[in-house]
Amino acid sequence: MPFLYSALGNWGTVWKCGCCGMPIIRKTTKAGGKAYSYYICATNKATKECSPHSIATDKLESAVLEMLQKHI
Ligand SMILES: [Zn+2]
Ligand SMILES: [Zn+2]
Repeated sequence: MPFLYSALGNWGTVWKCGCCGMPIIRKTTKAGGKAYSYYICATNKATKECSPHSIATDKLESAVLEMLQKHI
């Protein structure tokens, strides 16, 4: 995920868009009666000025776990 980076602050890991620096926000959609959640760039949601860079929630969360394990 070259478009994402995390900043380890006092309140934990924050995921941000690598191109605009805005946070990656969670979004949920329903398709075929099933709910899917994923993260997209906040700028894309607000103004469409950035690409969505959408990533599935489980993928991001496993990437977060991987990062945490590397930091410990
Ligand atoms: Zn962005
Ligand atoms: Zn972008």
